[in-house]
Amino acid sequence: MAEAPVLEDTERTTGRVALRKNIAAAMALSGAVRSTLGPKGLDKLLLDDQGRTLVTNDGVTVLETARVEHPVARMLIDASSAQDRAARDGTTSAVVIAAELLRNAWHLVLQGVHPSTIVRGYRMAETEALAHLEGLAFEGSDEDLVTAVRSSLAGKSSQGVQERLSFLAMEAARCVERTVDGITEVDPTRVSTVVAVGRPAIDSEIIEGLVMQKRRAHPDMVRTVENGTIALLDAGIERRKMRGDVTFQATSPEVLDDLRRREAERLLEDVETIAAAGVNVLAVSGAIDDEAHRRLLDVGIQAFRRVSSSNLDLLALATGATVLHHVDALQAESCGQVLESQSHMLGDLHHWTVRGQGPAATLIARGSGEEIADETSRCFDDALGVAAHLRKDRRLLVGGGASHVHLARHLRRFAEATPGREQLAIDAFADALEVIPRALAENAGLDPIDALLDVTAAQAEAREGAERIGLHLDRREPADLGKEGVLEPLNVIKPTVSGATEAAAAVLRIDDVLWARLEAQIPDDIQAQIDAMGERDA
Ligand code: ADP
Ligand code: MG
Repeated sequence: MAEAPVLEDTERTTGRVALRKNIAAAMALSGAVRSTLGPKGLDKLLLDDQGRTLVTNDGVTVLETARVEHPVARMLIDASSAQDRAARDGTTSAVVIAAELLRNAWHLVLQGVHPSTIVRGYRMAETEALAHLEGLAFEGSDEDLVTAVRSSLAGKSSQGVQERLSFLAMEAARCVERTVDGITEVDPTRVSTVVAVGRPAIDSEIIEGLVMQKRRAHPDMVRTVENGTIALLDAGIERRKMRGDVTFQATSPEVLDDLRRREAERLLEDVETIAAAGVNVLAVSGAIDDEAHRRLLDVGIQAFRRVSSSNLDLLALATGATVLHHVDALQAESCGQVLESQSHMLGDLHHWTVRGQGPAATLIARGSGEEIADETSRCFDDALGVAAHLRKDRRLLVGGGASHVHLARHLRRFAEATPGREQLAIDAFADALEVIPRALAENAGLDPIDALLDVTAAQAEAREGAERIGLHLDRREPADLGKEGVLEPLNVIKPTVSGATEAAAAVLRIDDVLWARLEAQIPDDIQAQIDAMGERDA
């Protein structure tokens, strides 16, 4: 049988050629984000096909926005997204280390080491690396934790705002912390955000409870309800709408009146059902028609309409209520409890704050303009992700390449003690980790080779605290970065190492790909390196 026509646009590559192309794709991708790494990293201006722009210095945002279709590049992007989900930080590092692992693997392949031997060596190095990192980590004080959150914001927004947001992120994480079956749980999805334009970003604040930009359905409704019962309805209390193209022929005006009256009665019945369940706070996703909100007012219910379904979900978490799709399903058990439900003004906008038994917090993200306020909210999200992890596990490492250099030195000793060709792979793994201090130096305008040599020498000479010595990017020399507050959660660094190993191993295992004719966009300088690789291959 002839080749299936679906393969017409693809070219089958095998063995080394495939591997070389795959590694080239990985390096091209890493080249796209490497310059964003660290506090001196450059911002990228992203432009989408509709001409919208986004300025960011976040690796995963760059990668996810660039619609890369190359299968191997996708694997690396997936590794970065996985890192984002797992730790909310370290996304650039994961990709950069993965690509470096691949590049070093290529050099070994050229020397005749089989990819599967390299994968075995990498796996051994990974296990040793994770254990070594655990040994280096220390429990952070409360102050250290805020500092570590701040390190994760390096390069994003101004110093003052970074400090404020880190503090707020730890506050928010504390608000939503609870203990379930003896295990500490910090769920960042319980923290919502309200964007408020008009004051500087540094005036952002955390409010305990759920705050929404909402006004009550009628200004005469009570402002504050304490210890009340809340019902959540993903529907409206409104007249039914005719669906489709329905023509309605009334034979007399009475029929029409009758119909209207019955619809109005139905609305009032709905309100009775709600009141009968003992409800005094009501949130609905749809509209509330006039007759209904007058009656709600009469029976003393504080009601809010057009509440988004995401807010209904948050309200459900905070109050223990169930979101219903129909009033008829309402029972006492489906209602939740509010400690306080308050309708108030924040600046010149109406807001509704709900506090229930379930933990919740809201960031009031401020900024002089909408873009700044949005940026504040994005930064806070990153900070919160890191803060949430840190409340569960306070172990920290020193960043700025300090831990990576220490780890690389350790792995080289470990390699010496390992027999067989795997030893070469472990050495290559150690070299790959040093891409972090090299890229940090490069982005700060320093010579990466000299910088790395200086840090390695300073660590080797130090009597104690060698693992804290990294590259001081302003002083341009090795220094104790722990003192400078460059701290990173163990649980950010560990997944970058394991995720990068995972991705590299997956690429090394592919020796036959159907190569769709979609060449990755490769920056010039990297193309030169790849060409050089090809020459050596020949
Ligand atoms: P990622 O997406 O990998 O988190 P970042 O751009 O956030 O990438 O850069 C993180 C790296 O920058 C980490 O290795 C971290 O230790 C380092 N870093 C952060 N602040 C400093 C600093 N003040 N001096 C040196 N390195 C720093
Ligand atoms: Mg980061």
